[in-house]
Amino acid sequence: MNARTEQKLILKKINPTAMRLLVLDLLLKQTSAISLTDIEKGLEPSDRTTIYRTLKTFEEKGLTHVIDDGTGTPKYALCAEECGDHEHHDLHVHFYCTSCKETFCLPNSKIPDVILPGGFISTEMNLVVKGVCDKCAD
Ligand SMILES: [Zn+2]
Ligand SMILES: [Zn+2]
Ligand SMILES: [Zn+2]
Repeated sequence: MNARTEQKLILKKINPTAMRLLVLDLLLKQTSAISLTDIEKGLEPSDRTTIYRTLKTFEEKGLTHVIDDGTGTPKYALCAEECGDHEHHDLHVHFYCTSCKETFCLPNSKIPDVILPGGFISTEMNLVVKGVCDKCAD
């Protein structure tokens, strides 16, 4: 296991257990967001519940975020460096490609400010753009 993966966990104050290193290593290799089932397949024979708990810890510590891309299957992706303990600062747009069925983080496309009526308090924001990704477009 490489030192960079371990360093990333320590930086987010996560104890680098073998399982956490494996999950993070797999996430680092992805170019798009990945589902729990895909992670499970990539780490066979690992226990689904343990993987799920690992992802929960990552989310709480600001290492990964969950994406609801409208497919009904939550996807997981790594956060930007500035996310921290129970604080996610990377409110970016996600893109779902209807051709390859992959979900991508678009960290440079921030979710625009949404004006809410008086008395409405937002706790979460999710913006998914659907279409065709650059690889499928040609
Ligand atoms: Zn985040
Ligand atoms: Zn595509
Ligand atoms: Zn994302």
